[in-house]
Amino acid sequence: MEKIIIVRYSEIHLKGKNRGYFERALILNMEKSLKGLKHEIRRQSGRYIVEAFEEDEIDNILSKLKKVFGIHSLSIALRVKTDLDEISEAAKRVCIESGNFKVSAHRADKTFALNSMQLNAEIGGRLLSCFNNLTVDVHNPDFIVNIDVRENGTTLVFNEFIKGAGGMPVGTSGRGMLLISGGIDSPVAGHMIAKRGMQIDCIHFHSYPYTNMQARDKVIELAKVLSKYTCGTKLNIISVTHIQEEIHKKCNGEYMVTLLRRFMMRIAENIAKKCGAQCLITGESLGQVASQTVEGMTSSNSVIKDLPVLRPLCGFDKDEIIERSRQIGAYEISIQPYEDCCTVFLPKHPIIKPSISSVMTEEAKLDIESLLKEALSTLEVIDL
Ligand code: ATP
Ligand code: MG
Repeated sequence: MEKIIIVRYSEIHLKGKNRGYFERALILNMEKSLKGLKHEIRRQSGRYIVEAFEEDEIDNILSKLKKVFGIHSLSIALRVKTDLDEISEAAKRVCIESGNFKVSAHRADKTFALNSMQLNAEIGGRLLSCFNNLTVDVHNPDFIVNIDVRENGTTLVFNEFIKGAGGMPVGTSGRGMLLISGGIDSPVAGHMIAKRGMQIDCIHFHSYPYTNMQARDKVIELAKVLSKYTCGTKLNIISVTHIQEEIHKKCNGEYMVTLLRRFMMRIAENIAKKCGAQCLITGESLGQVASQTVEGMTSSNSVIKDLPVLRPLCGFDKDEIIERSRQIGAYEISIQPYEDCCTVFLPKHPIIKPSISSVMTEEAKLDIESLLKEALSTLEVIDL
């Protein structure tokens, strides 16, 4: 009798001709997430079986697999020979000792002597005679013993369906560049897009020495959280200190954030193209703060030459974003109180609905090309 993990995939079984492509991406991502842990993964009739692992690592393995997009559900199962005594021995180990239960058998191996109904009755009977406080309730059981008789002479016995991350395997929907700050929103935005199968690289802008090294470490930690879902990521770090100083010196202070955003977008598009990323992703949410009005978005979009900008949080309230942030394990890091570069030189009254013409007037006071060049020369890349 051996413990294994059954992995069922989600949407990818709908993908018809592309099915092989999606399956290969999924298995590659499972392998990456389990790297360093002893295991084997085998494909078995439309699902994967993870086996040959150290049993005391099972929780660790499960928690890693629960972050792999494309997985619909997981079950820890006992695998036995397809033999009535062995199956009922496994069922006894899996089953509760008191309460309502039922047996739910599925027979892929049609040569097995008992059909599903007979197997339900046989194993159910054996469990009842073993545990006095059990009762059968086929309509509304508290507990289900699942028995899956496979074609290869083995049977899987399990009770629980553990929810997987859902979505599609990362790598099957292209590559995007996430503008990641130290805040709550951007990691959630990256997670949402990765869930749809996109491989994510990150870019972060800092204003050292106005922002400190802890702020930078915080972003590295957030990118690490994200990398557990994306099977790795590259974090590009760029200094925009000189840009902010220059805006502060030469432009109307009300335009600080608006102008800085435009520089961020230009730099992000430049780096994205070099990394092969096909879009930019931000954590903006419509109307959340002064710079996230539709006019603000128009202003930052208008400097981008080719790439689309995905803003998956646009329609979300802050409390919905916080809930997701908690779920993905980013929240406690995001709320550490270090300053983002956007809060440096923050004007008392930032412009809320910037017109493109007024933005252009302010921006004309700056040497855009040389500021961009200097920013790009500060690039540092961390592989996570
Ligand atoms: P977040 O919680 O993601 O920081 P926010 O609500 O604080 O978002 P803003 O500070 O207006 O909002 O930032 C909007 C978006 O701009 C962020 O979600 C992120 O995508 C991008 N952004 C802001 N600051 C930075 C930064 N220092 N580096 C990279 N991207 C940034
Ligand atoms: Mg922020």
